[in-house]
Amino acid sequence: MKTEHRTIEELLVYLENPIGSKEDETIEEHLAECDKCVSDLSFLDTLRIGLEQFGQNSRELVETGESAHLTNEEIPKYIKEACNENEKRRIVSHLAGCSSCLDDVFTVKKLTTQLEREPALTKKSYLLSRFIISRPARMASVEKEGKDLIREAARHGIALFDIGRSLSFSFQGAETSEEKTGEDYRKMETDDFTIEIVQPACKVSNVIIGVLARGDLKNAKVTICAEEEKSEIVSLDNRRAIINKDNMQAEAIRYIRVDKM
Ligand SMILES: [Zn+2]
Ligand SMILES: [Zn+2]
Repeated sequence: MKTEHRTIEELLVYLENPIGSKEDETIEEHLAECDKCVSDLSFLDTLRIGLEQFGQNSRELVETGESAHLTNEEIPKYIKEACNENEKRRIVSHLAGCSSCLDDVFTVKKLTTQLEREPALTKKSYLLSRFIISRPARMASVEKEGKDLIREAARHGIALFDIGRSLSFSFQGAETSEEKTGEDYRKMETDDFTIEIVQPACKVSNVIIGVLARGDLKNAKVTICAEEEKSEIVSLDNRRAIINKDNMQAEAIRYIRVDKM
């Protein structure tokens, strides 16, 4: 049976001391049968060799501002090994002197690996939104993953509202919301439904959820996940259902899943 994937931290420890301890033996057994962890290990090893070439000098260049922090375009490009030699040199020399960008690179790398390995869409969405909340300034470096995930989810009837909000994906201001300041309006599409969230300006803890089916359906199963998942069956009148939610904020809605019935 396959053993657990290794974390970036575990692989780093292994790189520091590749021979010896019992723990290393289980890592080696795992590496022998896991291409994914081998590829993470080689990413870390290449990075480590690069970092060793630069040193004190890099830290000074970072401190004086001559070496600029990595942009949100550079991080994914570097992780996906899509940089040319010049770009790679500039990135690695910066990383050698900047622990903050190095930490960002590890975290983005870890997240993209987790997203590839995790099969459940809602768990992927949780991982991605946790990253966005903890590193809002680095949100744009996972924009591609976020948008791919939103599209993949939509094909399965799930509208990822929290990630969509962060990436400004498919949100259109309603005609009325431009007039009434403070009203919150969000809309996302899945393959079979259009799902809207309206939060009237005067009622901060009350949201109205609108579901519009593309096809001719009588009922739909609506699952709303704010803190936890809750499902209900709604009947569609002229393809449409309106659901009122007291004690819920638009901000808190992570995803809404609508299944055909
Ligand atoms: Zn593995
Ligand atoms: Zn930096």
